[in-house]
Amino acid sequence: METHSSHKIVILAAPSGAGKTTIMARMMEWMPDQLSFSVSSTTRAPREGERDGVDYFFISEEQFKNNIEADGFLEWEMVYNGQYYGTTKKEMERIWNLNKVPLLDIDVYGAMKVKSIYGSQVLSIFIQPPSLQTLRERLIQRGKDSMENIEKRLAKAAEEIAQKIHFDTIVVNDDLNKACENVHKAVVEFLKN
Ligand code: 5GP
Repeated sequence: METHSSHKIVILAAPSGAGKTTIMARMMEWMPDQLSFSVSSTTRAPREGERDGVDYFFISEEQFKNNIEADGFLEWEMVYNGQYYGTTKKEMERIWNLNKVPLLDIDVYGAMKVKSIYGSQVLSIFIQPPSLQTLRERLIQRGKDSMENIEKRLAKAAEEIAQKIHFDTIVVNDDLNKACENVHKAVVEFLKN
């Protein structure tokens, strides 16, 4: 992949239910000329309302594995339930060619992988939910997942929170508006240099 030292990447990682989707949307709204959402590829089924090529590229396990073979991923993980998620090099190039900075919504391990490759060209932000109990309540309220899936997401959340020390910036989301402002501030500062 052709990269340049001026190429930057912003990563938002957070346990699901930590408010990441709202923060992502707000960043795209506030900085449409600077940031572009990086559309990941996944083997999981689309949820209601999700669009192929917009929220994710929904692909088969065979297509995903072929792309691993072809060295097409910057990073990929089997996140849970045996589902694969990955950021393609092609997607990074598409966004850099627009002279924009990719905004990645990926899990902590993917974030650490990208950070290890691109170092100071990456701003990695961890969104921390106030507590696992709050996270549990939010996931139940959201009503998108079965109880079994919620338990899986919570187990993964606890694991992810333990990794927050590896991030450039930690933003606690106890107040969604404040969290958005803090993320915005960090991104503006990062893009200045
Ligand atoms: P969801 O299924 O709720 O959309 O996403 C589940 C988890 O997968 C989230 O933590 C999300 O950030 C992560 N994820 C989404 N895309 C990618 C990706 O391309 N790479 C990695 N490593 N994780 C991803």
